[in-house]
Amino acid sequence: MIGAGVEWTEACERCGAAMRCEGGQALVRDRLEWGIEYRCACGAATMVCGDGFGEEPPGLRARLLAEGGRGRLLLAGGSRVAALAEVRTLFGLGLGAAGAALTALVAGTYGATVPEVALLARRLRGRGVEAEVEAVDGAG
Ligand SMILES: [Zn+2]
Repeated sequence: MIGAGVEWTEACERCGAAMRCEGGQALVRDRLEWGIEYRCACGAATMVCGDGFGEEPPGLRARLLAEGGRGRLLLAGGSRVAALAEVRTLFGLGLGAAGAALTALVAGTYGATVPEVALLARRLRGRGVEAEVEAVDGAG
């Protein structure tokens, strides 16, 4: 399993104190799963979770990209055509945008989390393309 996680604080809806939040995203088999846990000293606790590509809350994804780092795609030869097709499918891009995205993914500058790129690499391996994911440090 490949996962990424971040911690932050938010004001508790019940008592207003700063409460601890933990969020993460992980590749489990061939699905992306995400979860956020909120816990406050006053006893308030919430857990939200779900799965699916691109289904996590935008706030969680932004934190993962900023603090958990981006995913870089390592391609060992293989077919760029196959890689382009998977990038188009997974990220829902047109051909031109997919080409730019693939170049950025290989450079480690594309805005995709490590588990997201891990999913892409997994699908590429399914097409016989040697692909791995590498974590690139977040901007912060
Ligand atoms: Zn509270």
